[in-house]
Amino acid sequence: MLNKKSVDDINVNGKRVLVRCDFNVPLIDGKITDENRLVAALPTIKKLIADGGKVILCSHLGKPKGEAKPELSLAPVAVRLSELLGQEVKFAADAVVVGDNAKAAVEAMKDGEVILLENTRYRAEETKNGEAFSKELASLCDVFVNDAFGTAHRAHCSNVGVTEYVDTAVVGYLMQKEIDFLGNAVNNPERPFVAILGGAKVSSKISVIENLLDKVDTLIIGGGMSYTFSKAQGGSVGKSLLEEDYCEYALNMIKKAEEKGVKLLLPVDNIIADDFSNDANFETAKAGEIPANWEGLDIGPETEKIFCEAVKDAKTVVWNGPMGCFEMPNFAHGTEAVAKALADTKATTIIGGGDSAAAVNQLGYGDKMTHISTGGGASLEFLEGKELPGVAAANNK
Ligand code: AMP
Repeated sequence: MLNKKSVDDINVNGKRVLVRCDFNVPLIDGKITDENRLVAALPTIKKLIADGGKVILCSHLGKPKGEAKPELSLAPVAVRLSELLGQEVKFAADAVVVGDNAKAAVEAMKDGEVILLENTRYRAEETKNGEAFSKELASLCDVFVNDAFGTAHRAHCSNVGVTEYVDTAVVGYLMQKEIDFLGNAVNNPERPFVAILGGAKVSSKISVIENLLDKVDTLIIGGGMSYTFSKAQGGSVGKSLLEEDYCEYALNMIKKAEEKGVKLLLPVDNIIADDFSNDANFETAKAGEIPANWEGLDIGPETEKIFCEAVKDAKTVVWNGPMGCFEMPNFAHGTEAVAKALADTKATTIIGGGDSAAAVNQLGYGDKMTHISTGGGASLEFLEGKELPGVAAANNK
């Protein structure tokens, strides 16, 4: 059980609080085109303001690779955050991040005021977790709060290094939610616990499959990765996505599931197409009976029924990876059916980052899920059962 101290467990009144946020927003010509990440950060920031902290925000933005690239400055974020918070967010425009502007601004801060530092990745040491920059960041604050889940699987100065030089390091509300769902609900699930895995490759999800096989009651495998399982069982998969090198592994996983008493559900039919295109001809074929020049691009109607039935009475469901090429409307049906089944079940539903989160939102089921993770790589590593450096670095309760 991960029991990390959060912003609710500390008193920041009169203290300088450095908050690592995820302000990695899309920018076009200096304009923020999606401000979800800014809005998501507000509860933690507002709480710290209300408690009388001197709130110093920091984040990375894009990949400036250790250089002060003006197009990746956080200046537009300070402007928009000021509007969203209804109070000034002073921008400390230092190319070295912790420079004269930042130091003077922090020095002059009154309780409840907010400043934003420049893009932490302007400093080359940031992604190498260098000591000097970690110490500089720590020198600005008395307390550190990490609310950036997207980088939690990386050990950088602004989320891990800095914690070595401050006495108090806690998590914000966004991080707490990810820990509660992806960490604790997955490791201590209410049963029946069903995991649904899809996406392109078996090879990128091996550790996830192995970790989940130890925890779930039912494991559902769809998407591109299912054809390797089908081939391994002697099926014909035509031109479908296939990782021949992983056929033996797939057979081992089938055996392992049997030994552990885990119900493993694989597609029984597929939507197959004669080209990798939304305009291709398509039809339904039994799994393992795909003709030579055809490829499976979605799960079929029988499979949809079986997968959806399996989540009906579940108490916890975790989903990572689409059931087919959902980006093409003709092959989005299986992914949509699963999204709808999750929306309809009473279970705690947890969507693990990346493509599945995009699919659920794109299909309009976002607000029906218990938790949609904001971190692609980080959520996958959580599902692999790994300890995330950004989580580990926070103080335990
Ligand atoms: P991943 O990043 O491994 O979760 O894979 C997500 C990608 O897998 C999406 O872009 C899907 O279009 C793709 N995908 C899912 N099913 C298939 C399939 N049957 N054939 C080809 N690509 C697929």
